[in-house]
Amino acid sequence: MQAVKMGNRDVMAVSLYPKEGNPLWEEYSTKAVAHTLRSYSAHTFDYPYPKAISVHAKNQGMEYPMICWNYGRPNEDGTYSDRVKYGMISVIIHEVGHNFFPMIVNSDERQWGWMDEGLDTFMQYMAEQEFGEAYPEAVAPNKAYPSRRGDPSKIVPYMSGDQSTISPIMDNPENVFQLGPNAYGKPATALNILRETVMGRELFDHAFKTYSKRWMFKHPTPEDFFRTMEDASAVDLDWYWRGWFYTTDYVDIGVKDIKKYYVSNKPTKKMQDYMAARNMTEADLPPLVYLAEEGSEDFDENLKGKSPSETSQTLKEFMMDNMTEAERAKVKEPKYFYEVTYDKPGGIPMPLIVEYTYADGTTENITYPPEIWRKNDKEISVVISSDTELTGVMVDPKAETADIDTTNNSWPKKEQNSDFDNFKEKIKG
Ligand SMILES: [Zn+2]
Repeated sequence: MQAVKMGNRDVMAVSLYPKEGNPLWEEYSTKAVAHTLRSYSAHTFDYPYPKAISVHAKNQGMEYPMICWNYGRPNEDGTYSDRVKYGMISVIIHEVGHNFFPMIVNSDERQWGWMDEGLDTFMQYMAEQEFGEAYPEAVAPNKAYPSRRGDPSKIVPYMSGDQSTISPIMDNPENVFQLGPNAYGKPATALNILRETVMGRELFDHAFKTYSKRWMFKHPTPEDFFRTMEDASAVDLDWYWRGWFYTTDYVDIGVKDIKKYYVSNKPTKKMQDYMAARNMTEADLPPLVYLAEEGSEDFDENLKGKSPSETSQTLKEFMMDNMTEAERAKVKEPKYFYEVTYDKPGGIPMPLIVEYTYADGTTENITYPPEIWRKNDKEISVVISSDTELTGVMVDPKAETADIDTTNNSWPKKEQNSDFDNFKEKIKG
Protein backbone atom coordinates (compact mmCIF):
# COMPACT_ATOMS: atom_id res chain seq x y z
CA MET A 1 0.00 0.00 0.00
CA GLN A 2 1.23 3.47 -0.82
CA ALA A 3 -0.22 6.98 -0.67
CA VAL A 4 -0.16 9.00 -3.89
CA LYS A 5 -0.57 12.78 -3.68
CA MET A 6 -3.36 14.16 -5.89
CA GLY A 7 -3.54 17.89 -5.27
CA ASN A 8 -4.31 18.10 -1.55
CA ARG A 9 -5.67 14.53 -1.36
CA ASP A 10 -3.96 11.22 -0.66
CA VAL A 11 -5.06 8.39 -2.95
CA MET A 12 -4.23 4.89 -1.76
CA ALA A 13 -2.48 2.54 -4.20
CA VAL A 14 -3.22 -0.94 -2.89
CA SER A 15 -2.20 -4.51 -3.79
CA LEU A 16 -3.80 -7.75 -2.64
CA TYR A 17 -1.90 -10.96 -3.29
CA PRO A 18 -1.22 -14.38 -1.78
CA LYS A 19 2.34 -15.51 -1.05
CA GLU A 20 2.31 -17.28 -4.46
CA GLY A 21 2.61 -13.84 -6.03
CA ASN A 22 6.00 -13.17 -4.45
CA PRO A 23 8.66 -12.06 -4.95
CA LEU A 24 7.20 -10.32 -8.01
CA TRP A 25 4.15 -8.77 -6.41
CA GLU A 26 5.75 -7.24 -3.33
CA GLU A 27 8.33 -5.67 -5.65
CA TYR A 28 6.20 -4.32 -8.46
CA SER A 29 2.42 -4.33 -7.96
CA THR A 30 1.94 -1.26 -5.75
CA LYS A 31 4.74 0.51 -7.62
CA ALA A 32 2.87 -0.04 -10.87
CA VAL A 33 -0.49 1.09 -9.43
CA ALA A 34 0.99 4.28 -7.97
CA HIS A 35 2.93 4.99 -11.17
CA THR A 36 -0.23 4.54 -13.26
CA LEU A 37 -2.18 7.01 -11.12
CA ARG A 38 0.61 9.57 -11.44
CA SER A 39 1.24 9.09 -15.15
CA TYR A 40 -2.41 8.99 -16.27
CA SER A 41 -3.35 11.92 -14.02
CA ALA A 42 -0.52 14.01 -15.44
CA HIS A 43 -1.89 13.42 -18.96
CA THR A 44 -5.59 13.85 -18.09
CA PHE A 45 -6.99 15.00 -14.72
CA ASP A 46 -6.33 14.10 -11.08
CA TYR A 47 -7.63 10.62 -10.30
CA PRO A 48 -10.84 11.46 -8.46
CA TYR A 49 -11.41 8.24 -6.47
CA PRO A 50 -9.99 7.47 -3.00
CA LYS A 51 -8.15 4.27 -3.97
CA ALA A 52 -7.02 1.90 -6.70
CA ILE A 53 -6.59 -1.79 -5.90
CA SER A 54 -4.67 -4.44 -7.87
CA VAL A 55 -5.68 -8.02 -7.02
CA HIS A 56 -3.45 -10.95 -7.94
CA ALA A 57 -4.86 -13.50 -10.37
CA LYS A 58 -3.27 -16.53 -11.96
CA ASN A 59 -4.49 -15.62 -15.44
CA GLN A 60 -6.10 -12.66 -17.17
CA GLY A 61 -6.63 -9.06 -16.30
CA MET A 62 -10.00 -7.37 -15.82
CA GLU A 63 -11.06 -3.90 -14.81
CA TYR A 64 -13.72 -2.55 -12.46
CA PRO A 65 -14.04 0.89 -10.87
CA MET A 66 -11.22 1.29 -8.33
CA ILE A 67 -10.38 -2.45 -8.40
CA CYS A 68 -8.95 -4.85 -10.98
CA TRP A 69 -7.35 -8.25 -11.13
CA ASN A 70 -4.09 -8.90 -12.84
CA TYR A 71 -1.96 -11.87 -13.83
CA GLY A 72 1.76 -12.42 -13.31
CA ARG A 73 2.64 -15.39 -11.12
CA PRO A 74 6.26 -16.49 -10.54
CA ASN A 75 7.32 -20.15 -10.71
CA GLU A 76 7.00 -22.19 -7.50
CA ASP A 77 10.67 -21.63 -6.67
CA GLY A 78 10.16 -17.87 -6.93
CA THR A 79 11.94 -17.43 -10.27
CA TYR A 80 10.19 -15.66 -13.13
CA SER A 81 10.87 -14.73 -16.73
CA ASP A 82 11.03 -11.21 -18.16
CA ARG A 83 7.87 -12.05 -20.02
CA VAL A 84 5.97 -12.66 -16.77
CA LYS A 85 7.46 -9.56 -15.12
CA TYR A 86 6.72 -7.13 -17.95
CA GLY A 87 3.38 -8.81 -18.63
CA MET A 88 2.39 -8.18 -15.02
CA ILE A 89 3.51 -4.54 -14.89
CA SER A 90 1.83 -3.86 -18.22
CA VAL A 91 -1.48 -5.49 -17.31
CA ILE A 92 -1.61 -3.58 -14.01
CA ILE A 93 -0.99 -0.29 -15.82
CA HIS A 94 -3.65 -1.20 -18.38
CA GLU A 95 -6.37 -2.29 -15.96
CA VAL A 96 -5.80 0.52 -13.45
CA GLY A 97 -5.75 2.82 -16.48
CA HIS A 98 -9.30 1.77 -17.39
CA ASN A 99 -10.49 3.87 -14.45
CA PHE A 100 -9.77 6.86 -16.72
CA PHE A 101 -11.02 5.36 -19.99
CA PRO A 102 -13.90 4.28 -20.05
CA MET A 103 -14.99 4.60 -16.42
CA ILE A 104 -14.52 8.33 -15.92
CA VAL A 105 -14.41 9.42 -19.56
CA ASN A 106 -17.37 7.19 -20.18
CA SER A 107 -17.44 6.05 -23.81
CA ASP A 108 -19.50 3.13 -25.12
CA GLU A 109 -17.22 0.19 -25.86
CA ARG A 110 -20.00 -1.81 -27.49
CA GLN A 111 -20.11 0.82 -30.22
CA TRP A 112 -16.50 1.97 -30.30
CA GLY A 113 -14.07 -0.47 -28.78
CA TRP A 114 -11.12 1.78 -29.55
CA MET A 115 -12.46 4.66 -27.44
CA ASP A 116 -11.57 2.82 -24.27
CA GLU A 117 -9.16 0.01 -25.28
CA GLY A 118 -7.31 2.15 -27.82
CA LEU A 119 -7.08 5.27 -25.68
CA ASP A 120 -6.12 3.14 -22.68
CA THR A 121 -3.47 1.23 -24.66
CA PHE A 122 -2.04 4.53 -25.88
CA MET A 123 -1.94 5.84 -22.30
CA GLN A 124 -0.46 2.51 -21.22
CA TYR A 125 2.34 2.93 -23.76
CA MET A 126 3.23 6.37 -22.38
CA ALA A 127 3.00 5.10 -18.78
CA GLU A 128 5.23 2.11 -19.59
CA GLN A 129 7.87 4.30 -21.20
CA GLU A 130 7.72 6.64 -18.21
CA PHE A 131 7.93 3.62 -15.87
CA GLY A 132 11.18 2.60 -17.58
CA GLU A 133 12.51 6.14 -17.02
CA ALA A 134 11.33 6.31 -13.38
CA TYR A 135 12.67 2.84 -12.49
CA PRO A 136 15.67 2.18 -14.77
CA GLU A 137 16.68 -0.76 -12.57
CA ALA A 138 13.44 -2.49 -13.60
CA VAL A 139 14.37 -2.59 -17.28
CA ALA A 140 17.45 -3.90 -19.11
CA PRO A 141 20.43 -1.48 -18.92
CA ASN A 142 20.08 1.44 -21.35
CA LYS A 143 16.90 -0.02 -22.80
CA ALA A 144 13.43 1.45 -22.98
CA TYR A 145 10.54 -0.44 -21.42
CA PRO A 146 9.62 -3.24 -23.89
CA SER A 147 6.08 -2.15 -24.74
CA ARG A 148 4.10 -4.73 -26.67
CA ARG A 149 1.93 -2.14 -28.42
CA GLY A 150 2.12 1.53 -29.32
CA ASP A 151 5.43 1.73 -31.17
CA PRO A 152 4.89 2.42 -34.91
CA SER A 153 6.74 -0.74 -36.00
CA LYS A 154 4.39 -2.95 -33.97
CA ILE A 155 1.35 -2.26 -36.15
CA VAL A 156 3.04 -2.83 -39.54
CA PRO A 157 2.15 -6.55 -39.79
CA TYR A 158 -1.54 -5.78 -39.20
CA MET A 159 -1.76 -2.77 -41.51
CA SER A 160 0.08 -4.55 -44.31
CA GLY A 161 -1.98 -7.72 -43.91
CA ASP A 162 -4.68 -9.24 -46.08
CA GLN A 163 -7.32 -6.52 -46.58
CA SER A 164 -10.16 -9.02 -46.24
CA THR A 165 -9.21 -9.53 -42.59
CA ILE A 166 -8.80 -5.86 -41.67
CA SER A 167 -11.55 -3.48 -40.60
CA PRO A 168 -11.40 0.26 -40.06
CA ILE A 169 -10.94 1.20 -36.39
CA MET A 170 -14.40 2.80 -36.51
CA ASP A 171 -16.16 -0.50 -37.22
CA ASN A 172 -18.42 -1.94 -34.56
CA PRO A 173 -16.26 -4.30 -32.42
CA GLU A 174 -18.60 -7.21 -33.11
CA ASN A 175 -17.77 -6.99 -36.83
CA VAL A 176 -14.01 -6.91 -36.33
CA PHE A 177 -11.89 -10.01 -37.03
CA GLN A 178 -8.87 -9.19 -34.90
CA LEU A 179 -9.87 -6.99 -32.00
CA GLY A 180 -6.34 -6.87 -30.53
CA PRO A 181 -4.62 -4.97 -33.34
CA ASN A 182 -7.83 -3.21 -34.42
CA ALA A 183 -9.14 -1.77 -31.14
CA TYR A 184 -5.95 -1.77 -29.04
CA GLY A 185 -2.79 -1.67 -31.16
CA LYS A 186 -3.70 0.48 -34.16
CA PRO A 187 -5.38 3.36 -32.29
CA ALA A 188 -2.51 3.31 -29.77
CA THR A 189 0.03 3.62 -32.57
CA ALA A 190 -2.08 6.21 -34.41
CA LEU A 191 -2.22 8.43 -31.33
CA ASN A 192 1.45 7.86 -30.56
CA ILE A 193 2.45 8.97 -34.06
CA LEU A 194 0.04 11.91 -33.86
CA ARG A 195 1.76 12.98 -30.63
CA GLU A 196 5.39 12.35 -31.51
CA THR A 197 5.55 13.02 -35.23
CA VAL A 198 2.56 15.07 -36.40
CA MET A 199 1.57 17.47 -33.60
CA GLY A 200 4.47 17.36 -31.16
CA ARG A 201 4.09 16.56 -27.47
CA GLU A 202 3.17 20.00 -26.18
CA LEU A 203 0.26 20.60 -28.53
CA PHE A 204 -1.00 17.02 -28.44
CA ASP A 205 -0.83 16.80 -24.65
CA HIS A 206 -2.76 20.03 -24.26
CA ALA A 207 -5.49 18.84 -26.63
CA PHE A 208 -5.68 15.36 -25.11
CA LYS A 209 -5.95 16.80 -21.62
CA THR A 210 -8.69 19.13 -22.81
CA TYR A 211 -10.62 16.14 -24.18
CA SER A 212 -10.20 14.20 -20.93
CA LYS A 213 -11.30 17.08 -18.72
CA ARG A 214 -14.13 18.19 -20.99
CA TRP A 215 -15.62 14.68 -21.13
CA MET A 216 -15.00 13.29 -17.63
CA PHE A 217 -18.21 11.83 -16.19
CA LYS A 218 -19.88 12.35 -19.57
CA HIS A 219 -20.47 10.10 -22.59
CA PRO A 220 -18.30 11.11 -25.53
CA THR A 221 -18.65 9.69 -29.04
CA PRO A 222 -15.77 9.54 -31.55
CA GLU A 223 -16.76 12.93 -33.00
CA ASP A 224 -16.37 14.48 -29.56
CA PHE A 225 -12.82 13.15 -29.38
CA PHE A 226 -11.93 14.20 -32.93
CA ARG A 227 -13.44 17.68 -32.55
CA THR A 228 -11.90 18.38 -29.18
CA MET A 229 -8.45 17.34 -30.41
CA GLU A 230 -8.91 19.80 -33.28
CA ASP A 231 -10.48 22.76 -31.50
CA ALA A 232 -8.10 22.57 -28.52
CA SER A 233 -5.04 22.48 -30.80
CA ALA A 234 -6.34 24.62 -33.67
CA VAL A 235 -4.97 21.96 -36.04
CA ASP A 236 -7.08 20.50 -38.84
CA LEU A 237 -6.75 16.75 -38.35
CA ASP A 238 -9.62 15.55 -40.55
CA TRP A 239 -7.13 13.89 -42.93
CA TYR A 240 -5.55 12.01 -40.04
CA TRP A 241 -8.80 10.68 -38.60
CA ARG A 242 -9.96 9.73 -42.08
CA GLY A 243 -6.80 7.82 -42.96
CA TRP A 244 -6.17 6.07 -39.67
CA PHE A 245 -9.67 5.56 -38.22
CA TYR A 246 -12.10 5.36 -41.15
CA THR A 247 -10.12 3.35 -43.70
CA THR A 248 -7.86 0.32 -43.90
CA ASP A 249 -5.23 2.30 -45.82
CA TYR A 250 -1.61 2.04 -44.81
CA VAL A 251 1.46 4.25 -44.82
CA ASP A 252 4.00 3.81 -47.60
CA ILE A 253 6.15 6.65 -48.87
CA GLY A 254 9.22 6.19 -51.02
CA VAL A 255 11.92 8.06 -52.92
CA LYS A 256 11.27 7.53 -56.61
CA ASP A 257 13.73 9.51 -58.67
CA ILE A 258 16.52 12.04 -58.40
CA LYS A 259 17.53 14.43 -61.14
CA LYS A 260 20.89 16.18 -60.85
CA TYR A 261 21.45 19.71 -62.13
CA TYR A 262 24.59 21.80 -62.54
CA VAL A 263 25.12 25.45 -63.30
CA SER A 264 25.44 26.15 -67.01
CA ASN A 265 27.15 29.10 -68.72
CA LYS A 266 24.56 29.43 -71.46
CA PRO A 267 20.80 29.41 -71.65
CA THR A 268 19.29 25.96 -71.75
CA LYS A 269 17.62 24.73 -74.91
CA LYS A 270 14.23 25.45 -73.39
CA MET A 271 15.27 29.02 -72.55
CA GLN A 272 16.70 29.56 -76.05
CA ASP A 273 13.39 28.49 -77.57
CA TYR A 274 11.57 30.83 -75.21
CA MET A 275 13.75 33.77 -76.24
CA ALA A 276 13.57 32.93 -79.93
CA ALA A 277 9.79 32.90 -79.83
CA ARG A 278 9.82 36.42 -78.40
CA ASN A 279 12.67 37.89 -80.42
CA MET A 280 14.77 38.30 -77.28
CA THR A 281 18.47 37.91 -76.66
CA GLU A 282 20.30 37.31 -73.39
CA ALA A 283 20.92 41.05 -73.14
CA ASP A 284 17.17 41.54 -72.69
CA LEU A 285 17.18 39.44 -69.53
CA PRO A 286 18.39 40.16 -66.02
CA PRO A 287 21.50 38.17 -65.05
CA LEU A 288 20.29 34.59 -64.76
CA VAL A 289 21.83 31.36 -63.65
CA TYR A 290 20.92 28.41 -65.85
CA LEU A 291 20.71 24.87 -64.61
CA ALA A 292 21.45 21.93 -66.89
CA GLU A 293 20.29 18.45 -66.08
CA GLU A 294 23.07 15.87 -66.01
CA GLY A 295 23.04 13.88 -69.24
CA SER A 296 20.80 16.37 -71.09
CA GLU A 297 21.82 18.30 -74.21
CA ASP A 298 22.49 21.37 -72.03
CA PHE A 299 24.91 19.52 -69.78
CA ASP A 300 28.64 20.39 -69.92
CA GLU A 301 30.83 17.92 -68.04
CA ASN A 302 33.53 20.59 -67.54
CA LEU A 303 31.22 22.80 -65.51
CA LYS A 304 30.17 20.04 -63.11
CA GLY A 305 30.42 21.20 -59.51
CA LYS A 306 31.32 24.82 -60.35
CA SER A 307 29.67 27.67 -58.46
CA PRO A 308 27.24 30.03 -60.29
CA SER A 309 29.63 33.01 -60.32
CA GLU A 310 32.49 30.78 -61.51
CA THR A 311 30.34 29.62 -64.39
CA SER A 312 28.22 32.54 -65.51
CA GLN A 313 30.05 35.53 -66.96
CA THR A 314 26.97 37.77 -66.73
CA LEU A 315 26.41 36.90 -63.08
CA LYS A 316 30.07 37.49 -62.32
CA GLU A 317 29.94 40.91 -63.99
CA PHE A 318 26.71 41.75 -62.21
CA MET A 319 28.26 40.93 -58.84
CA MET A 320 31.41 42.92 -59.61
CA ASP A 321 29.37 45.95 -60.64
CA ASN A 322 26.80 45.90 -57.88
CA MET A 323 28.38 44.43 -54.77
CA THR A 324 31.24 45.32 -52.47
CA GLU A 325 33.96 42.76 -51.86
CA ALA A 326 32.56 42.08 -48.39
CA GLU A 327 29.08 41.48 -49.82
CA ARG A 328 30.44 39.17 -52.49
CA ALA A 329 32.27 37.13 -49.86
CA LYS A 330 29.02 36.59 -47.99
CA VAL A 331 27.07 35.22 -50.94
CA LYS A 332 26.34 31.53 -50.52
CA GLU A 333 26.66 29.70 -53.80
CA PRO A 334 25.52 26.11 -53.92
CA LYS A 335 27.11 23.99 -56.63
CA TYR A 336 24.80 21.01 -56.68
CA PHE A 337 21.10 21.08 -57.39
CA TYR A 338 18.70 18.18 -57.13
CA GLU A 339 15.09 17.56 -57.93
CA VAL A 340 13.98 14.73 -55.68
CA THR A 341 10.70 12.99 -56.44
CA TYR A 342 8.84 11.12 -53.74
CA ASP A 343 5.91 8.83 -54.34
CA LYS A 344 3.23 7.60 -52.02
CA PRO A 345 1.85 4.12 -52.79
CA GLY A 346 0.12 4.15 -49.38
CA GLY A 347 -3.29 5.77 -48.94
CA ILE A 348 -2.57 7.61 -45.69
CA PRO A 349 -1.00 11.07 -46.04
CA MET A 350 1.84 11.58 -43.55
CA PRO A 351 4.65 14.05 -42.97
CA LEU A 352 7.55 13.32 -45.32
CA ILE A 353 10.55 12.79 -43.05
CA VAL A 354 13.85 12.75 -44.91
CA GLU A 355 17.51 12.44 -44.06
CA TYR A 356 19.86 13.75 -46.76
CA THR A 357 23.50 12.60 -46.63
CA TYR A 358 26.30 14.50 -48.38
CA ALA A 359 29.74 13.55 -49.67
CA ASP A 360 31.48 15.38 -46.81
CA GLY A 361 29.71 13.07 -44.36
CA THR A 362 27.21 15.63 -43.07
CA THR A 363 23.52 14.86 -42.84
CA GLU A 364 20.50 17.13 -42.98
CA ASN A 365 17.08 16.17 -41.65
CA ILE A 366 14.02 17.80 -43.15
CA THR A 367 10.40 17.11 -42.29
CA TYR A 368 7.98 18.26 -44.96
CA PRO A 369 4.49 18.69 -43.44
CA PRO A 370 1.66 16.37 -44.52
CA GLU A 371 0.11 19.29 -46.45
CA ILE A 372 2.79 18.61 -49.05
CA TRP A 373 0.42 15.91 -50.44
CA ARG A 374 -2.54 18.27 -50.73
CA LYS A 375 -2.33 19.00 -54.46
CA ASN A 376 -1.00 15.65 -55.55
CA ASP A 377 -1.62 12.69 -53.28
CA LYS A 378 0.55 10.30 -55.33
CA GLU A 379 3.78 12.08 -56.10
CA ILE A 380 5.63 15.29 -55.24
CA SER A 381 9.02 16.79 -56.08
CA VAL A 382 11.24 19.05 -54.02
CA VAL A 383 14.38 20.93 -55.04
CA ILE A 384 17.42 21.02 -52.82
CA SER A 385 20.83 22.58 -53.30
CA SER A 386 24.15 22.14 -51.55
CA ASP A 387 27.87 22.83 -51.58
CA THR A 388 28.77 19.18 -51.72
CA GLU A 389 27.39 16.25 -53.60
CA LEU A 390 24.30 14.44 -52.34
CA THR A 391 25.15 10.79 -51.68
CA GLY A 392 22.07 9.43 -49.97
CA VAL A 393 18.38 9.98 -49.28
CA MET A 394 16.50 8.10 -46.61
CA VAL A 395 12.77 8.40 -45.99
CA ASP A 396 11.56 7.97 -42.39
CA PRO A 397 15.06 7.17 -41.05
CA LYS A 398 13.84 6.56 -37.48
CA ALA A 399 10.84 4.40 -38.47
CA GLU A 400 8.35 6.86 -36.98
CA THR A 401 5.45 6.47 -39.39
CA ALA A 402 4.62 2.73 -39.56
CA ASP A 403 5.72 2.69 -43.23
CA ILE A 404 4.85 -0.84 -44.35
CA ASP A 405 7.40 -1.16 -47.17
CA THR A 406 10.89 0.15 -46.55
CA THR A 407 12.42 -1.28 -49.74
CA ASN A 408 11.59 2.04 -51.48
CA ASN A 409 12.77 4.26 -48.62
CA SER A 410 16.34 4.87 -49.71
CA TRP A 411 18.39 6.22 -52.59
CA PRO A 412 20.59 4.70 -53.77
CA LYS A 413 18.42 1.66 -53.33
CA LYS A 414 19.72 -0.60 -50.58
CA GLU A 415 20.02 -4.31 -51.16
CA GLN A 416 17.58 -5.92 -48.80
CA ASN A 417 18.09 -9.41 -47.46
CA SER A 418 15.39 -11.89 -48.23
CA ASP A 419 13.68 -13.59 -45.30
CA PHE A 420 15.74 -16.65 -46.17
CA ASP A 421 19.01 -14.67 -45.95
CA ASN A 422 17.95 -13.23 -42.60
CA PHE A 423 17.14 -16.73 -41.38
CA LYS A 424 20.52 -18.03 -42.53
CA GLU A 425 22.29 -15.18 -40.70
CA LYS A 426 20.26 -15.79 -37.60
CA ILE A 427 21.10 -19.50 -37.34
CA LYS A 428 24.76 -18.75 -38.13
CA GLY A 429 25.03 -16.08 -35.41
ZN1 LIG B 1 -8.51 -3.13 -21.68
